Amino acid sequence: MSARKFQFYIVPTPIGNIKDITLRAIEVLKEVDFIACEDTRTTQKLLNHYDIRTKCISYHKYNERERVSFFLNELREGKTIALVSDAGTPMICDPGGVIIEELLKNGFSVTSLPGACAVTTFLSSIPRQSEEFTFIGFIPRSEKQIIDVVKRHADFNMVFYDSPERILNTLNIIKSVRSNAKVALARELSKLFEEVVFDDISEVLKHFGGEIKGEIVCMIYAAENSEDMDWEFKISALKSKGFKDKEVATILSTLYSVNKNEIYKKSIDM
Ligand code: SAM
Repeated sequence: MSARKFQFYIVPTPIGNIKDITLRAIEVLKEVDFIACEDTRTTQKLLNHYDIRTKCISYHKYNERERVSFFLNELREGKTIALVSDAGTPMICDPGGVIIEELLKNGFSVTSLPGACAVTTFLSSIPRQSEEFTFIGFIPRSEKQIIDVVKRHADFNMVFYDSPERILNTLNIIKSVRSNAKVALARELSKLFEEVVFDDISEVLKHFGGEIKGEIVCMIYAAENSEDMDWEFKISALKSKGFKDKEVATILSTLYSVNKNEIYKKSIDM
C-alpha cells in the first residue's frame, strides 16, 4: 500500500543535532517538487548533509503574501511543496500561518509531519506535575509587558522563548513580581552545550551569573499558594472591584483552601 500523497507538507527540521530529522521528513524533502524555506543557505546545509537535491525557494514573513499566489499556481499545476523553517517546526514562532490559511481556503490538502520543536523537547526534559501549560511564544520585551504577561498567566506553567541577550533581564523583571517563582530553563537543546536547570528564580539567576549563551526556552511554574505576588495580585484585583477585606479573605480562602486570616491580614495591609 503506498502512502497517501499530499500536496503541501509542513516538515520539521533539527533544532540542533542534525540527526534529529525523521526518515519520513527526508523522504518527503527528496520527493517534493520544491522546498519553501526561510533562508535558503541554512536549509541548503541540511539538504547537502542528506544528499537532497530538491530546489529551494525562499519564503519568509516579509514575502509571505506575495509567495502565496506563486505556491497556489504551482499546486494547481499538480506540483508538491514542502515548507521548512530554519530550525524546528514551521509556524511555531516561525512563518507559515498565512500560506496554510490560503491553501486550506483554496481546497488544497496540507499535512504536517511530527518532529523537532524546542517547546516539546523542553517540556519533556523538565519536572512537571501538571500537563497544563501556556506557550506564549517569544516573551515581550518591555518591563511593563513582561509584568503584565506574567501576572496574566500566573496560574499556569508559562513557557516562552527569549534571546540570550535578554533572558537574564527578563528573569530579573519576573523576580520583581514573583520573587519565589520556580523556573526551568534550557539552553542549546540537542547541542553540545545543552543545559537544563530547574530551581528558584534567584538560584537560576545566580547560576548563570551575568551571562548566558545559546538558544533559550524557559518556563515559569504556576504560582504556588505561598507566593506573595500571586496573593497581592488576586487581592488587589478583588479590591479594585469593590470587595471588602473580609469578603476578599472569604472568597480566596474558599477558592484556594488557604488560611482566611492570613489573606485578611494581607488584604488590610494593602
Ligand atoms: N520553530 C522553532 C521550534 O519549533 O521550536 C522555533 C523558532 S524560533 C524563531 C527560535 C527560538 O526557538 C530560539 O530563539 C529559542 O528561543 C528557541 N530554540 C530553538 N532551538 C532551540 C534549542 N536548540 N534550544 C533551546 N531553544 C531553542
